[in-house]
Amino acid sequence: MLPYGKQSISDEDIAAVTAVLRSDWLTTGPAVAKFEKKFAEFAGAKEAVAVSSGTAALHAAMHAIGVNRGSEVIVPAMTFAATANSVVYCQGKPVFIDVEPGTLLIDHKNLENLISKRTKAIVAVDYAGQPCDYEELRDIAGRHSLPLIGDACHALGGRYHGQAVGSLADLNIFSLHPVKHITSGEGGVITTDDSRLAERMRIFRNHGISTDHFRREQMKTWYYEMIDLGYNYRLTDFQCALASSQLTNLSAWVQRRQVIARAYCRAFDKTNGVMPLELKPDISHAYHIFVARFCAGAADADRDLLFRAFRAEGIGVNVHYFPVHLHPFYRRHFKTREGQCPVAEAASREILTLPLFPRMSDLDIQDVINAVQKIMREFS
Ligand SMILES: *Cc1c(COP(=O)(O)O)cnc(C)c1O
Repeated sequence: MLPYGKQSISDEDIAAVTAVLRSDWLTTGPAVAKFEKKFAEFAGAKEAVAVSSGTAALHAAMHAIGVNRGSEVIVPAMTFAATANSVVYCQGKPVFIDVEPGTLLIDHKNLENLISKRTKAIVAVDYAGQPCDYEELRDIAGRHSLPLIGDACHALGGRYHGQAVGSLADLNIFSLHPVKHITSGEGGVITTDDSRLAERMRIFRNHGISTDHFRREQMKTWYYEMIDLGYNYRLTDFQCALASSQLTNLSAWVQRRQVIARAYCRAFDKTNGVMPLELKPDISHAYHIFVARFCAGAADADRDLLFRAFRAEGIGVNVHYFPVHLHPFYRRHFKTREGQCPVAEAASREILTLPLFPRMSDLDIQDVINAVQKIMREFS
């Protein structure tokens, strides 16, 4: 089965991890700051804060901007559940916003209608790896003095109007899960130009304690204070070494992802019933995933039939995502319902994610294209 995504690990990656395993510091040592510096440079931000997952990164961001009981945070319906869950961790309420039909990115035309006195932040999700319209979003957020959070877990290595993803929102969230662009096994990063917020998040990832063990060793002191309620969301040194080593390849990997995506788009241009998502002008798409709507003839009646047909051909298609507001948890606790985000709901019934990862061979790409053309012929 050709999976929809897969990590690439080189001998250099393994050597980098091994070197840390042989050193004195397995966690909270020098590799963390080294990785943070390298990541911040890549993303074009002043600060990068490394944490134990993308979910922890979202939680740290929500905490840093002061989401609490009674807060509302606007979150697109078409995303991974963790985007909304992080608001709930802070006792806040996610307010779900629909997406644009062509791109499945946040529908900013509807944004101001959802802003209330309780709104604490706006979250934009760079769905599939395409950066949102940040100029528009920053304008709206600025008019209402709200922080803009970019869930850029899909978009590392992407660009918007020439600017790197990671420098576009007030807080930018990344995941280092194996299926994402670069990996540390599990891991996450927040980038920001706001040093005060970065400091809050560094304290938050370390139980709310104001100095870490490494700093105390350097300062030859045992004394520390817990000044906030935090968590253990630290990323280990050997994970940071892996992520640093992976970062070296990122630009080449994004380029390879773009080549594969273009091959798909070219092939499906002439295939009935397959519609890749639209591209916005002046962006560089990072293609975490390749998503298309499938709606040929009888096929649009049942996407799940197509799902099984692809799997039977050895093509590991997937669905990203089931709209978050329709999950039983959100229906139960936040009284969300069908019809609330009709574009996301309709898209979710039509989309499939096709395999896309840097180490796919040209033969793999052709296999996917052949399977799509064969299945769409059968079902049209
Ligand atoms: C992967 C992902 C996350 C969560 O990242 P983890 O590292 O798996 O916790 C959050 N939001 C989006 C959009 C993601 O794709």
